[in-house]
Amino acid sequence: MELVEESPYRFRIDRHDPMRVPGVVFASESLLPDAGADKSLEQVANVATLPGIVDASYAMPDIHWGYGFPIGGVAATDVEHGGVVSPGGVGFDISCGVRLLAADLDLAGLRPKLGAVMDGLGEATPRGMGKGAVWHLSKGEELDAVLRGGSRYAVERGFGVERDLERCEDYGAVDDANPAQVSERAIERGARQVGSLGSGNHFLEVQAVEEVYDEAVATAFGLRPGQVTVMIHSGSRGLGHQICTDYVRQMEKVMRQYNIHVPDRQLACAPVDSHEGRAYLGAMAAAANYARANRQLLAHAARTVFSRVTGSRLDLVYDISHNLAKIETHGTDGDSRRLCVHRKGATRALPPGHPELPDDLRDAGQPVLIPGSMGTGSYVLTGVAGSPAFASTCHGAGRVQSRKQAVKAERGLDPRRQLEDQDIAVRGASRRGLAEEMPAAYKDVSAVVEAAEGAGLCRKVARLVPIGVVKG
Ligand code: 5GP
Ligand code: MN
Ligand code: MN
Repeated sequence: MELVEESPYRFRIDRHDPMRVPGVVFASESLLPDAGADKSLEQVANVATLPGIVDASYAMPDIHWGYGFPIGGVAATDVEHGGVVSPGGVGFDISCGVRLLAADLDLAGLRPKLGAVMDGLGEATPRGMGKGAVWHLSKGEELDAVLRGGSRYAVERGFGVERDLERCEDYGAVDDANPAQVSERAIERGARQVGSLGSGNHFLEVQAVEEVYDEAVATAFGLRPGQVTVMIHSGSRGLGHQICTDYVRQMEKVMRQYNIHVPDRQLACAPVDSHEGRAYLGAMAAAANYARANRQLLAHAARTVFSRVTGSRLDLVYDISHNLAKIETHGTDGDSRRLCVHRKGATRALPPGHPELPDDLRDAGQPVLIPGSMGTGSYVLTGVAGSPAFASTCHGAGRVQSRKQAVKAERGLDPRRQLEDQDIAVRGASRRGLAEEMPAAYKDVSAVVEAAEGAGLCRKVARLVPIGVVKG
């Protein structure tokens, strides 16, 4: 795959048949995937063949191989000109995302109680494959309310405060959720998992603000140096997974009827404005709301522990999703277009002044939450005006080792011990689970963030370091 360096942190894959637009990869030389081991650059080119795609098939600096689309991929299709929606462009964990809470407590104040806090969080956070949840819902009305109401429904039920919703992307719930398009099997898998972390890469982490790069913006976000934060990474569990599976299958079957040909079956798609396209988007929105309610309940459980053990409050900084397709309007008055923006392992990053931001974030921009790894650090960023990829940026450090490779690299070592030697407390997770997620499995998050900033996608606000982690 030939890459042309257009400008610092920006590489182009020239359009060649059957691509409809070029590919654009935001990265530094050293962050580019190793073409021998990882086919994600080919995936960028494959995505560029989708009907209705506009401008370019983009990839963020955390790009790595994914199902159909690369993780770190952003692609927008023109809804009014045959643009398609592709479930693989959202991913299996629909609306997987990150929520950050800020404590009215400094690290020095937490230290003496850290063990008790971690024990409490470990007990209060349901995790692992199908091992219980904060809520046990009946399959009928209650789950329906989650699928329609997201975080709003959780707050209505007393699992949070009204202000939380101001600090959620889409104010806690996306419109147009259509539970009728969610299969019985998906409902069954989801009903008993609302308020559960999941496994592997999902986590609840206690952190501290190590460095602030922009004091005014950090203050608007509610962050200051030395402060304790809690970061939660989880998604739509079995429900989202099943919805993706169902619709990939369905679209594979009907693609030909729409005269759509893609170079990879995993790019199965249908026009946004078709029966299948609309059905998927309705089911996907329901899963997005499920994921948001899920993170709301996990946050509530963490708040209860913090309040009991330390007497401190946890205020929501923001909740973002990094696996979603959204119908958005982009461009200026004269030539604005309705686009279906797929962000898969990519985060929306609204610039200052954007009308969708709540009043108290209007001047600061949207908080963008970037987990790095449990052994290194994480970042808080904000959106910038005039950014090149439909107001999107990276979503994490991005994997460089497969889970299997990571386990092999840790053979004979003790991952828990390594973390504890760095003063990072660990709860949950098997030895294998930890080995899969060691920092060496991921790119250097600081290099990823530097490339994203250098490419004009976002700006740094603060860096967070891990103090303790509850792993799924
Ligand atoms: P994904 O959504 O692609 O599974 O993961 C998002 C990002 O989370 C990964 O690219 C990685 O950088 C980061 N990550 C995975 N595990 C942890 C963890 O335990 N702690 C932190 N802070 N980040 C993590
Ligand atoms: Mn996920
Ligand atoms: Mn995720």
